[in-house]
Amino acid sequence: MKWGEAMTKCMSVLGVTGSIGRQALDVVRSNSEELRVIAMSSYNRIDELIRLVEEFHPQYVAVRSPEQAELVRAKCPFTEVGHGEQALLTAASLQESTLLLNALVGAAGIRPTLRAIEAGCDVALANKETLVAAGDIVVEAARDHQVQIIPVDSEHSAIAQCLQGANREEIEKLIVTASGGPFRGTSVENLRQVSVQDALTHPTWSMGAKITIDSSTLMNKGLEVIEAHYLFDVPYSDIEVLVHPQSVVHSMVQFRDGAILAQLGTPDMRIPIQFALLGEKGRLASQWKRLNWSHISELTFEAPDYDTFPAIKLAFDCGRAQKTYPAVMNAANEIAVWAFLEGKIGYLDILDIVQRVVEQHQPESTFGLDEIFTADQFARKTAQLLIAKRGQKV
Ligand code: NAD
Ligand code: MG
Repeated sequence: MKWGEAMTKCMSVLGVTGSIGRQALDVVRSNSEELRVIAMSSYNRIDELIRLVEEFHPQYVAVRSPEQAELVRAKCPFTEVGHGEQALLTAASLQESTLLLNALVGAAGIRPTLRAIEAGCDVALANKETLVAAGDIVVEAARDHQVQIIPVDSEHSAIAQCLQGANREEIEKLIVTASGGPFRGTSVENLRQVSVQDALTHPTWSMGAKITIDSSTLMNKGLEVIEAHYLFDVPYSDIEVLVHPQSVVHSMVQFRDGAILAQLGTPDMRIPIQFALLGEKGRLASQWKRLNWSHISELTFEAPDYDTFPAIKLAFDCGRAQKTYPAVMNAANEIAVWAFLEGKIGYLDILDIVQRVVEQHQPESTFGLDEIFTADQFARKTAQLLIAKRGQKV
C-alpha cells in the first residue's frame, strides 16, 4: 500500500442522493486524498445513484428493492449490490470503513447507526431523528464501543467547534439558533391557509422536504434541542433557542465566566459536513463561498413565538419526560409531515396530530430498543388513524 493511500479515510455514506448526501460527495470530491467512499445507499433516484457508483466505485451499494438492485447491477457489474434493510446495515458497517455518514431521513437511521457503532466505526450523524428517538441507547453504545458521534447538523457542528479545548464543566448554556422559518411573524389564523409550496420555501437553507417542513413548524428546532442534549450531555434547563433570521450565527456556547463563543459562516452545509468528515485532519482549505460582511446589514435575535409554534415546547416536554416520549413525538411528526406533503391534512394539523399522539402515549415500565420501536409503531399507527379521520385536506 502506498503512503498516500494509508492516509485515506474509508467511509460509508447512507442517503447519498439526498440533500446532505449530495453535499457530502462534493466534500469528498474536493478532499479526494483524504476521503474515499466505499459504500453508499439510496432508496430513490436510481439513475443518479448509478452515476455516483460509476464516479466513486464503491465496493458495496444498498438500494430499496430487488428491481432497483438489478438496475444497478446491470450498469455496474463490479460493485456488489444489496437491497432492503439488511443491505443498509451491511453498507453501514463494511469492514474497511472507519466512518459512517448517516444522511438518511427519519427513524430508519437508528439501526444502521447502531450497526456502525457495533462495528467500531465513528458516525458523522446528520440523521437527527436517530438521536431524538434513541439518544440514550446510541450514546451508551458509542461509549461502550469507544467510537465518536460527530455532529453534522450546522447548529451542533457550531457548538462542537465552540467547545474545542473547553471543559464540560465550563459550559453555562448552549444557545441554539433558528432561522424562524418562512412563517416567522405569521398569525395562527394565517397559518391555517399555508400550502405545501409555501411551507417548502425556506428563507435561508436548501434542504430535503421533511426537514424543510420541520423548519417551518419549528419542530426541527425541537428535534435539535433533544439532539444537543444527547450530543453534549447538557441538561434541558441549560439549552436555549434563539431566533436569528439571517442564519449567519450557527449557534453559540455561553461559558460560566459569562463569555460567549459563536460560530459563523454562510448557510452552506458543506462547511459542517467537511468539518465532521475530516475530523482530526482539521480545517483543510475549501472553495465554498465566503461570508461577505459588507452585504450583511444586520444580525438580529429574538425569542421564539412559542404560542404560534408549539413544537419547541413540546420537544422540551418530551425530552424531559424521557423514556419513549421523544421517539413517539418523532414518529408521529414523520407521519404527519408526509401526510401534509401528500395533501392529506392541513398545515396546522401537523402539530395537532403530534400533540394528540404524545398525549395518548403510555410508556412501558422497562426501557430499551424494543420499547423504542414498539412506541414508534404505536405513534405511526395512531397518527395514521387521526389522519384518516380528518379525511381530505380541509
Ligand atoms: P433527503 O430527503 O434529501 O435525503 C434522504 C436520503 O435518505 C435519500 O437519499 C433517500 O433515498 C434516503 N431514504 C429516505 N428514506 C429512507 C429509508 N426509509 N430507508 C433508507 N433510505 C432512505 O433528506 P436530507 O435533507 O438530506 O436530510 C437527511 C438528514 O439530515 C435528516 O435527518 C435531516 O434532518 C438532516 N439534516 C439535513 C440538513 C440539510 O441541509 N438537508 C441539515 C441538517 C440536518
Ligand atoms: Mg440544523
